[in-house]
Amino acid sequence: MKRPFLTLAQAKEIIKTYPTPFHIYDEAGIRRTARALRDAFAWNPGFREYFAVKATPTPGILKILQEEGCGTDCSSLTELMMADRCGFTGHDIMFSSNETPAKEYQLADQLGAIINLDDITHVDFLEKTLGHVPELVCCRYNPGGVFQLGESKEGFQVMDNPGEAKYGMTRAQLEEAFVRLKAMGAKRFGIHAFLASNTISNDYYPALARILFTAAAEIAEKTGCSIAFINLSGGVGIPYRPEQPANDIAVIGEGVRQAFQEIMVPAGLGDAAIFTELGRFMLGPNGLLITTAVHEKHIYKEYIGVDACAANLMRPAIYGAYHHITVLGREDEPADHVYDVVGSLCENSDKFAINRQLPAIHMGDILAIHDTGAHGFSMGYNYNGKLRSAELLLREDGSVKLLRRAETPEDYFATIVWD
Ligand SMILES: *Cc1c(COP(=O)(O)O)cnc(C)c1O
Repeated sequence: MKRPFLTLAQAKEIIKTYPTPFHIYDEAGIRRTARALRDAFAWNPGFREYFAVKATPTPGILKILQEEGCGTDCSSLTELMMADRCGFTGHDIMFSSNETPAKEYQLADQLGAIINLDDITHVDFLEKTLGHVPELVCCRYNPGGVFQLGESKEGFQVMDNPGEAKYGMTRAQLEEAFVRLKAMGAKRFGIHAFLASNTISNDYYPALARILFTAAAEIAEKTGCSIAFINLSGGVGIPYRPEQPANDIAVIGEGVRQAFQEIMVPAGLGDAAIFTELGRFMLGPNGLLITTAVHEKHIYKEYIGVDACAANLMRPAIYGAYHHITVLGREDEPADHVYDVVGSLCENSDKFAINRQLPAIHMGDILAIHDTGAHGFSMGYNYNGKLRSAELLLREDGSVKLLRRAETPEDYFATIVWD
């Protein structure tokens, strides 16, 4: 059973100041998650989480993570600018982008960020753009093929398709890139890969680590390159559905430790650091989209219209993603009604839930849409002239802080050239 971190009484109090819809984040939950991750990898002295900014590009959130010792993983100019303005400097920033324009490499280099090259052609492009290559540099690896874990009668526990993904270098390119970067003056190297998204399995990181550790050991031996870190990137998932088990980050950290002992230590790479770039795992469950039921409609199906829409949370509309819904104050009532919970876009995919068993919903009821802390607000858009909502923080002391105000029509019109 999923319980939201916000009660009806708290929501009603907040709504007096900040009308729905809004996203709200749980400071205590964010800190708890960051500490559990840190503990799971405490065996590795250089361990660091570089939070994937694209998941929740909100300075109030980045600063909490900074206090917990995290860096940032940026992939665009404005994400780099935001990290800089939040006070992340030098190696606090990973820059993992693809199809990267020159000015983004320039800013990344100016900030002293660790640059992660997505393609072999970017070795020359980087050197030409900067006039040098950084001493510490990372390359993204794509082993190709299909990545699978945990076959059972129900299918594979994790299955993704690196061979179809646009990211990273082949194994041969990875080695060539290291050799050329070394010749250009790079001294220490990182290897990065992201093979599967939203994995619900304690085996994903350990399996990925084995692939990267093996490549690192081979390349270090052949090229003499010094391996500073292995970046396991993102992809550790969260249980969006109430019946799904949660990943156990302590088990995941231990699995990576075993692989490290077996492969890295004997290869003389026992000093290498482990980096992660988790977004969803860090923030997903620590955010809710709060919305009010504003309309009910009885046609061929029962519809509940709410004041949020896909412009506030796109995942159900574009991925058919499940997001759990709690009707606040009715947590213990029987879920004996079946509804489609919908937003107001002129787009039939604008449905937060389809055929969902819920308690009877009354107009004015407040709904909490779960697990919206990552890839929620950040994927928002302005279709149909919809405005982005506010983002709030529920602090550890129970007070509420505004992190970002809601957009106004003036914001929406601000970029227009009126003749
Ligand atoms: C999106 C992304 C992440 C974060 O992914 P999650 O699924 O949120 O953990 C990390 N690294 C890179 C390079 C990404 O593009």
